[in-house]
Amino acid sequence: MLVDSHCHLDFPDLSRRLPEVLEHMQQNDVGCAVCIGVNLEDFPRVLALAEAHPNLYATVGVHPEYTDTEEPGEARLVELAGHPRVIAIGETGLDYYWQKDRPEWQRDRFRRHIRAAISTGKPLVVHMRDSADDTLRILKEEDAQAVGGVMHCFTETWEIARQALDLGFFISFSGIVTFKNAIAIKEVAQKTPLDRVLVETDSPYLAPVPHRGKPNEPAFVRHVAEEVARLRNLSLEQVAEATTANFFNLFKNAHRPVQT
Ligand SMILES: [Zn+2]
Ligand SMILES: [Zn+2]
Repeated sequence: MLVDSHCHLDFPDLSRRLPEVLEHMQQNDVGCAVCIGVNLEDFPRVLALAEAHPNLYATVGVHPEYTDTEEPGEARLVELAGHPRVIAIGETGLDYYWQKDRPEWQRDRFRRHIRAAISTGKPLVVHMRDSADDTLRILKEEDAQAVGGVMHCFTETWEIARQALDLGFFISFSGIVTFKNAIAIKEVAQKTPLDRVLVETDSPYLAPVPHRGKPNEPAFVRHVAEEVARLRNLSLEQVAEATTANFFNLFKNAHRPVQT
């Protein structure tokens, strides 16, 4: 069984055809998927998916790309994260690709998420784009190691991965690892200790080869796992078993679906 540790099933492209998306998951042995919150306005939709489907989970957080949105206070995040179907805080982090002026409010918002995660004991889902130095520095300053989490859709070098691993974080690979020119990411996928690797789709974005350029969906996490297996000379089954075990180790509020 595989787990898609990061997807956006509440986005219209996917929510519109949810029954089919869930069926494809089942056909590809993708037993669980995590619906990631990106803002508080849409969180009820994300939570509703996790409440309606035993194999879907939710997270709560406000993505750094969202500017014109309800600003999440630490207490508000803690309150929303108290729901049993919410398994993590995020996605949160820093994105200097979209906001090249590196605004202070991104770092403030990120710190609030880390504090909320520590106070709930639920791990972090961290989005890091063109911001590795500040992201790692703030994780250290806020003692994020106390709660841990995942560096989602990892696109940095092995040097950065090593620092995240030193902080106790997991590294999650998306469809980008299947792209031919993703040399540095393939290296990270070879070197990250197997007990710290997760796989995800970040769907509807970033469809892996051979679906590149088309809408992505959780079933395609299988192609991500296949590429990780190829890079490490392992079987798909070995990577599936390891990444699924890692998922349930990190997200302690998630439970293996009952096999039928
Ligand atoms: Zn992200
Ligand atoms: Zn995302």
